[in-house]
Amino acid sequence: MTEPTVHVLWLNAGLSCDGDSVALTAATQPSIEEIATSALPGLPPVELHWPLLDYECGPQGGADDFVAWFHRAARGELDPFVLVVEGSVPNEDVKQEGYWTGFGSDPATGQPITVCTWLDRLTPHATAVVGAGTCAAYGGVHAMAGNPTGAMGVPDYLGWDWRSTAGIPIVCVPGCPVHPDSFAETLVHLLHQIAGRAPMIELDDNLRPAWLFGRSVHESCNLAGYYELGRLATGYGRDECLVKVGCWGPAVKCPVPRRGWINGVGGCPSVGGVCVACTMPGFPDQFMPFMDEPGLTVAPATEGLYATLVRTLQSVVLHEAEKEPEWRRRGDALTTGYTAPWGGVDQHG
Ligand code: SF4
Ligand code: SF4
Repeated sequence: MTEPTVHVLWLNAGLSCDGDSVALTAATQPSIEEIATSALPGLPPVELHWPLLDYECGPQGGADDFVAWFHRAARGELDPFVLVVEGSVPNEDVKQEGYWTGFGSDPATGQPITVCTWLDRLTPHATAVVGAGTCAAYGGVHAMAGNPTGAMGVPDYLGWDWRSTAGIPIVCVPGCPVHPDSFAETLVHLLHQIAGRAPMIELDDNLRPAWLFGRSVHESCNLAGYYELGRLATGYGRDECLVKVGCWGPAVKCPVPRRGWINGVGGCPSVGGVCVACTMPGFPDQFMPFMDEPGLTVAPATEGLYATLVRTLQSVVLHEAEKEPEWRRRGDALTTGYTAPWGGVDQHG
């Protein structure tokens, strides 16, 4: 029996910069090509409807009408489908006139269809809904204090307890932008789950995939050894822990330091840039100004006496560890401590 095709509808018309779409093109484990062509073993057939790269880009009602897929899904004609939302959701009820967002137009009125309306029409039919990036997950930069749109994340709009037709909660993969492989991996899990070959996706309290966001930045940072030694940079460009110049790593959950950005390369604090907490629900307001030392909650416990002790111990241990054993040298006598098991025969025969 042929498996049903899973359609992935990518709605990037929220308040966004498309950075998460761009980021996904850099995924390698797996790549978006491997997902789109169902090249991975066990994946069901996939059709990706993604504005950034789709061949279908024709006008509404014309040939290759991209928006038609969304209208079909809204009428309940696509099953199963995963709705990916990129960008935050504005509050369309607080403005005087016009639209904060629009994607396609309503054939009945000729007016733009807002993201809120798309969410209202699509989510009752969706097999799964995914928030790509911090804006869709929690509001992000567009939802900062002082914004005029009343922006919010998808769970704020639909409700944090929302469930899809398949009983799946909203899945949030935060990050500004989203980490390419983390998003690709999450999508693959959902595709396997929809195909009946993976269990219910495990999410944490903030609807993030638990296996990706269970560990702090600090726990995976390759500068954590310097933190332990109390070697804290006071400026940029130094190979020391960045906590004093703004790193929020100890308070932030994110897989980037242990996975790198692209194909294992790059990162944030691991390669010299402070962690600005871009995956967190309180981003950015709760972590600004970014270049200042974070509050007491993340101040290192390694300053003062303890750090001096650790540094001293380390220098003693390092001093010894840097030496070769004394028996590794030229000379007439063997001094390794070797004894021939049959006894009495010396090494020269
Ligand atoms: S740079 Fe940041 S994440 Fe890395 S060890 Fe220092 S405080 Fe922790
Ligand atoms: S390490 Fe920090 S700044 Fe970098 S992606 Fe993760 S949360 Fe964002």
